[in-house]
This record gives sequence, C-alpha cells and structure tokens, in this order.
Amino acid sequence: MSPAVEGQRVADMDRRARARLIQPVFQDPFSSLNPLARVRDIVAMPLRAQGNIDRADVTRRVEEMLARVGLTTEMGARLPTELSGGQRQRVAIARALVLKPRIVVCDEPTSALDVSVQAQILNLLAELRRELGLTYVFISHNLAVVEHVASEVAVMYLGRIVERRPTQALFHAPEHPYTKALLASVLTPEPGLGVPDVGLGDVMPDPANIPPGCRFHPRCPVAEARCATQTPPLKARPGGGVECLLVP
Ligand code: SF4
Repeated sequence: MSPAVEGQRVADMDRRARARLIQPVFQDPFSSLNPLARVRDIVAMPLRAQGNIDRADVTRRVEEMLARVGLTTEMGARLPTELSGGQRQRVAIARALVLKPRIVVCDEPTSALDVSVQAQILNLLAELRRELGLTYVFISHNLAVVEHVASEVAVMYLGRIVERRPTQALFHAPEHPYTKALLASVLTPEPGLGVPDVGLGDVMPDPANIPPGCRFHPRCPVAEARCATQTPPLKARPGGGVECLLVP
C-alpha cells in the first residue's frame, strides 16, 4: 500500500506537489551540491522548478532561507567548493526547506562532517524543526544521534522494520534481539575494553538472498529451530511493535 500523508496518497501526487511536501537532505554535502552552481542558484532551484513563483519572490525567499540556516547573503554568490563542509550542509538544508515542506528525509546528514561541526548541524536541524513544525525521517547508524534527535525509532534489519517504539522505551527496554545487539555494540571510551562481542557471529547479511522465516535468524544469538521457518508476526506495543517469535 502506498504511504499517505494527511489522507493523501503520495503515489497519487505529481512531482511538484510531492516536492512541496517532502524534501531530502543527503549524507555527503561534497557530492550532493552541483560544484558549478552558485549557492543562491542551488537554493533557488526547487522554487524555480515549481514554475509559478516570480523572480523577486524567489530572490527574497532564498535570502531569507540562507539567513535562517546561518549563511550570509555574500555566501550566496559562492560556489560550494568555496565553503566548508558544515556550510555546505547548511546550503543543502536551505535547499530542502525553501519550499516549506512538511517532511524532510535526512539521510545520515552529519556522518560526512567533522565531529565539531556535527553538533552544530544537529542543533540547527532541531531549531528548524521547532520553528517550522517539521517532521524528520532521520536515517542514521549513530545511536547517540538517534537518541538525541528522535521521538520514535524504527530499527531496520535487511530492509524490514523489526522494532518500532518511542525513543525512551526502545533505548531503555529494547525487545528485539537485533535492537539489543545494536545497543550493546556501542563502543565505550574506556581503554582496554575493546570491541564488545554481541554474539552476532560472522555471517554477513545478503540483501539479495533474504533468509526464510525470521530474516535475522542466521545471526540471532537466541534463535530457535522454528525461527528458520516461521515469519515472526508483529506484536503490538504502545506507539509501535516488535517482530520476534520469542517476545510475548
Ligand atoms: S524470531 Fe527468532 S531469530 Fe528472529 S529475532 Fe526472534 S528469536 Fe531471533
């Protein structure tokens, strides 16, 4: 079934309507911005693509958006190659928000940045979410970032959501064995502790060859024989659910 937003099926929308509703921020601001385009033209592109916004309005909205993400008007005349990584990601965020979308898909938006800049971008995203009433679909492997930004977390394994819960519940009482392994695999700064053994073994998942039954069973430390043949049903939880044969 096609997802719907506020009762409207996304698949039924034309491209321009979908762009007004959902925008992306990609992982790598070094490759997601056209290196030959000026910053102001990059941010203006979604407005121009709508085809019905006059030039003065485009200029005004681009300048407003640059200021909102912490960039100066002068930076609008630069090329992406003349900006730092953090500034480039601000350009990518401005481009995503200039149409005032409801939903922003943030695909690992800080993982290509220096650690010191990551916090600035996360704070900026949090500020903009509050100010503009945005919803983020935030994709990340960094659990500390997920815990910091998310109100609800969906854990995926081989393309399937295996546990979805409110953030506090998931981090304090994970139920799915994969979620537990993920949380246990976080490295600590304590020297000498090494890499934690979370019991997932050496079998690497192959998306082209999904295992039968529970797709996690070849790696699951608590798998039973039935896990290789039975597909786990969704067990409802407040605000979500979990897919594991062993949970009540
Ligand atoms: S269904 Fe079985 S293999 Fe899958 S997560 Fe639960 S215990 Fe592990």
